[in-house]
Amino acid sequence: MKSVCLKQPGEISLVDVPLAKRGNNQILIKVRSAGICGSDIGAYKGTNPLVTYPRIIGHEIAGEVVEVPEDETTLMPGDRVVLEPYVYCGTCYPCSIGHTNCCENLTVLGVHIDGGMAEYISHPRHLVHKAPNNIPWELLPLAEPLVISMHAVNQPKVVAGEHVVITGCGQIGLLCALYALIIGAIPIVVDPVKERLERAKSLGIPYVIDPVTEDSIARIKEITKGRMAEVVIEASGDARAVRNSIDYVAYAGRISFVGYSKADTPMPTSLFTKKELTIYGSRNSVGKFPESLRLIAEGKVDVSALLTKAVSMDDAPATVVDIAEHPDRYLKVTCLF
Ligand SMILES: [Zn+2]
Ligand SMILES: [Zn+2]
Repeated sequence: MKSVCLKQPGEISLVDVPLAKRGNNQILIKVRSAGICGSDIGAYKGTNPLVTYPRIIGHEIAGEVVEVPEDETTLMPGDRVVLEPYVYCGTCYPCSIGHTNCCENLTVLGVHIDGGMAEYISHPRHLVHKAPNNIPWELLPLAEPLVISMHAVNQPKVVAGEHVVITGCGQIGLLCALYALIIGAIPIVVDPVKERLERAKSLGIPYVIDPVTEDSIARIKEITKGRMAEVVIEASGDARAVRNSIDYVAYAGRISFVGYSKADTPMPTSLFTKKELTIYGSRNSVGKFPESLRLIAEGKVDVSALLTKAVSMDDAPATVVDIAEHPDRYLKVTCLF
């Protein structure tokens, strides 16, 4: 079968690999669509130390069930499904308390193990979610970035009426803002890229701030009537944004870090104490795929607004190269198989 494979960093092509066979307690799936994610680009560039090569990329995967275990009662051949790509051990400490998303032995599709950009994949049955029929193939992979964003908003327990500053308005930040709106919170997006702020505004985000041309602290103070934001979600991984989160957040506020920092950031930790802040990490997600699929199917989150384009599997390698070279031209690309 065909697969989109990285031989080594910088070398991506369609590679013929042996046809996937259904493993024990697994579902065999004919892949129909796959999202290209920032982590796939990191794998291509060789900047993600967790990736080993050669590696089939792709963890935002949707497809059709081909074969199920004999005792399977929920899924049937022909069902449309989305894959939860975080394969956990089930026995370590975080797994034992239900935090399977940060399992000590976590393996993620396309990172530690081969991903789903191939014609077929076999995947653990408990990580395969039935998808509503009304979501088109090119949008189904977006259920994965949406669960990441939902988790980032749920970790600091955002409630209606709270101001939520979101630093970074790529796909994860934008989905955080849209999900905060659904909860009834007031999202305030901070990003230096004008097109991203305009897109956020056009999708109903009430406040957008350019931290380069505007005094972001003063604007947030004005919007929150002096309080500052009850919650900050850092979704860029950028060192300046990480540092600014302490200034954007209110006394007794909460910060959720979902952006993966590339370097350590010196922090005025005395402010953690002075402001009595609660700091949350947010990684992957747990148990959120059914809700994510429902929000997309009911049109509550318009993920089509994030789709830059859909390409064929044959065009996937060249598209990965182009996204790596021109990241600002793309928000989300999905590949149709
Ligand atoms: Zn992703
Ligand atoms: Zn575990």
